Amino acid sequence: MSILIVGASVAGTRTAIALRQRGFTGPITLVESEEHWPYDKPPLSKDLLAEGHTPDVPRLLTPELAAELDLDVRLGVHVTALDAARQVVVTHTGEEISYERLVIATGARARTLPVPSGLTGVHTLRTLDDSTALRDALAGKPRVAVVGAGFIGAEFASAARLRGLDVTVIEALAVPMSPILGDDVGREVSSVHALNGTELVTEARVERFLGSARVEGVALADGRAVPADLVVVGVGATPNTHWLEGSGLPVDHDGVHCTERYEIPGFPSIFAIGDLAVRPHPLLGVRARIEHWTSAGEQADAVASILTGAEPPAPQLPYVWSDQYGSRIQIVGRPSLGELAHREGSMAEGHFRAVYVDTDDNPIAQVSVNNAKAVAAFRKIYRRGGSLTDLVGEQTPAR
Ligand SMILES: Cc1cc2nc3c(=O)[nH]c(=O)nc-3n(C[C@H](O)[C@H](O)[C@H](O)COP(=O)(O)OP(=O)(O)OC[C@H]3O[C@@H](n4cnc5c(N)ncnc54)[C@H](O)[C@@H]3O)c2cc1C
Repeated sequence: MSILIVGASVAGTRTAIALRQRGFTGPITLVESEEHWPYDKPPLSKDLLAEGHTPDVPRLLTPELAAELDLDVRLGVHVTALDAARQVVVTHTGEEISYERLVIATGARARTLPVPSGLTGVHTLRTLDDSTALRDALAGKPRVAVVGAGFIGAEFASAARLRGLDVTVIEALAVPMSPILGDDVGREVSSVHALNGTELVTEARVERFLGSARVEGVALADGRAVPADLVVVGVGATPNTHWLEGSGLPVDHDGVHCTERYEIPGFPSIFAIGDLAVRPHPLLGVRARIEHWTSAGEQADAVASILTGAEPPAPQLPYVWSDQYGSRIQIVGRPSLGELAHREGSMAEGHFRAVYVDTDDNPIAQVSVNNAKAVAAFRKIYRRGGSLTDLVGEQTPAR
């Protein structure tokens, strides 16, 4: 059986490695549009932007490891179409690559704003090249505007501020991240900007970028203007599904829809994992597309198990972390699926925890800041079906 994996970031690369670890000996081909050997994304908005840090990124796969695992890695090859009936994908050169099993792992790209840009100094942050360009731009000590106060925007703002630059974050919502964390916790977590001297402008819609060749600022719909020499747009990610258009696969604006076992209904030899896979989550009880590093790796392990006829590892709650201004924010579960039932600490104190419960008052999600022990405590209580009292009664001192 031959396995073709399209997209060689964390989901695709980890699938190939896990297949070999599980004893799969058939041909594995990994196709990736970028020219770089596969690298990890979380450092792109953290260490790689820090002053004095060696601009080097951890690799997910090296030529040596690929040779050792006998992986056929094709870099700089963009897949443009899928013909599921003939079991082939078509590349940008018109070459066809056939498969017996196909793993779709093309992830997502940075979403852009529906306003014209084209100005030098307006960036997004998704790839190694994006991060390298931003690192170079930061060295010129620009005034920085960040559009979007989600994780990527907040991490970039933090990196720029830690270099001593003037930073303004422009956010459309009244409370950053409120759809994910709720108003109360969203307000608390985003207070980290003001505490570190970053200006946060909320309920602000970008009307246009100012400047002729090079950006000079951001004009807001209410008439205000934010002066800036460097603008980073961090307004989320769009799944890379364009190459699947016309393939007959269940694809929409949200991603590729698959089953709990990552299979595409009606296409038994095709699987989808990672940032573009919309899947009924066995623990959350809803269909979800999860854009977290840990989930991409877990899904890779699971699909490699399924492809080798083994039982996949037990499902896990989504987990994501974000490093901002020296604080580590960790989220387990989906806070938006529960009610906020407990909060302690604050960003100003340097430690914080919020616990969300289901209708039976059982903890189903947690946000914690600088408190790694709280994550372990939450997981333990969640696994054994403990109550909120069990959880918040436990000693979880701040780190
Ligand atoms: C800057 C940044 C920081 C992050 N920090 C964190 C963090 O701190 N914690 C956390 O949990 N998560 C973080 N994430 C999210 C995490 O990195 C993603 O969830 C993860 O990368 C998803 O992996 P993936 O393989 O599904 O998709 P992607 O990483 O998007 O990879 C998809 C790959 O497919 C390739 N591709 C796309 N289309 C084609 C095509 N048509 N043909 C061939 N190849 C194609 C792309 O080039 C890409 O290499 C961060 C993401 C970014 C961008």
